[in-house]
Amino acid sequence: MILRTLMTFIVCLTGLITLGADPETNPFANARFVDLAYPLNATNQYWPGDDYSGFELKTIATLEKDGVLSKAISLPEHLGTHIDAPNHFEPNQQDVSQLTPKQLFGPGVVIDISVRAEMDADTMLTVEDIRNWEKQHGKIPDGAIVLLNTGWGRFWKNTVRYQNRDARGQLHFPSFSAEAASFLVEKRKIRGIGVDNLSIDRGISTDFAVHHIINKAEKFGLENVAHLDKLPAKGFQVLVAPMKIENGTGGPTRIWAMLAK
Ligand SMILES: [Zn+2]
Repeated sequence: MILRTLMTFIVCLTGLITLGADPETNPFANARFVDLAYPLNATNQYWPGDDYSGFELKTIATLEKDGVLSKAISLPEHLGTHIDAPNHFEPNQQDVSQLTPKQLFGPGVVIDISVRAEMDADTMLTVEDIRNWEKQHGKIPDGAIVLLNTGWGRFWKNTVRYQNRDARGQLHFPSFSAEAASFLVEKRKIRGIGVDNLSIDRGISTDFAVHHIINKAEKFGLENVAHLDKLPAKGFQVLVAPMKIENGTGGPTRIWAMLAK
């Protein structure tokens, strides 16, 4: 059957993708992929900074009129699922186009603080949390991309809940602590960190210490990472593919987790 010899891409439910193919022609034939990026559209969440604006997609040529369908996009670099390049918070660091494939590929781990975050939106990942994770799962591997599941992914489509502002307008959402970020870059050999909400610093942060620590160590941060609840704590690879914007401080990013079937 000719169909049997064709490489078949079968898309399953809710972002889970299975690749079916001959293992001899496709080394990833026995991998299962989880898509960790949200599709870009006008409802995407982004940092509520003064000059930031939402995603726009405009049609600039149509099949009917021009014989070709073509569109133009407009967005801040730091919108939706995206990367913070090392130059985002520190001088003399790589821009997003300078990040190498090696930096953007590594074993993934997920640390879950979602139960605590449900009680306390200002909670943060501590060094003790990391040590407890390691007691259960072993040491964080060299080159790891450390992903923090705060449970915020379930609010992705609800801006009010996602930003979680109090009466004074102050944002409240959980993230990494400065101590945990320092531990990861000093005591472990990570490539980067990621979180399922707006920032690798908590909503109430004023000094953005985690951004500074991560960027100073020449590492990247990933924000608004999707579907972290669909991943195991370890045992998968992460592939990060940001848009290659010269001099950019970040940009929209495809992220995949590759798991053994
Ligand atoms: Zn960012």
